[in-house]
Amino acid sequence: MREHLLPFYEERDRNIDMLVIHCSAYPADKVLFYLEQYKCSCHYIIEENGGIIKVVDERYSAQHGGKGFWRGSDESLNKRSIGIELCHPTLGQTSYSPAQVSALIELVKGILHRHQIPAVNIVGHSDVAPLRKPDPGMAFPWRKLADEGIGLWFDPARKMDENNVAELLAIIGYDVRSEEAVSASAYAFCRRFLPKYVQLDNNPQHLVEHILPDDFAFMQQADFVETLQAVAFVYR
Ligand SMILES: [Zn+2]
Repeated sequence: MREHLLPFYEERDRNIDMLVIHCSAYPADKVLFYLEQYKCSCHYIIEENGGIIKVVDERYSAQHGGKGFWRGSDESLNKRSIGIELCHPTLGQTSYSPAQVSALIELVKGILHRHQIPAVNIVGHSDVAPLRKPDPGMAFPWRKLADEGIGLWFDPARKMDENNVAELLAIIGYDVRSEEAVSASAYAFCRRFLPKYVQLDNNPQHLVEHILPDDFAFMQQADFVETLQAVAFVYR
């Protein structure tokens, strides 16, 4: 691991109980350039080749999450979380390299050893900011991470007996405080658990500006509701 420490951090006023995964369409040197330019930060950057760069010490709060909401709370995500930025040219729409995924798994195992982070609080940026952020994208290997003991996956055979989409999304942790938030959260849910309903955008820059689909017909599909019921079963 190498270091490129940035001064954009604050003291924490609460314990770390959350991990937020991000991705950026830029290589690490450009990520660092933009972080400096906008006075933002994260704790680690992982390059496509698996190289890890430490940016802010875990004991401090880094500026990576912005406004967010998860499991009933909209208090500062930064203060309670560790943020990892993955360099990925298509913004997580195509496979992450095995070297990058292995490096991430090793890094996160260490983090989970050092801090008490509940599995339900291991999230992607789009999970906590579904109206604003598409990262780490539908190709992010959540299932593989769950196999490694990082976060949760679901069993399609075990489902919650509940049909209300907003209710199910809220049980998992998503923001359902407005109709717009429910739709955006449903799409963020698909990025993570049902990627076949996520549209590919060949222009990562365009994707950052238009993270939501043109229509939300997927929300009427039986397998959308069934997957939601199965995921809610493990997050409840
Ligand atoms: Zn992000």
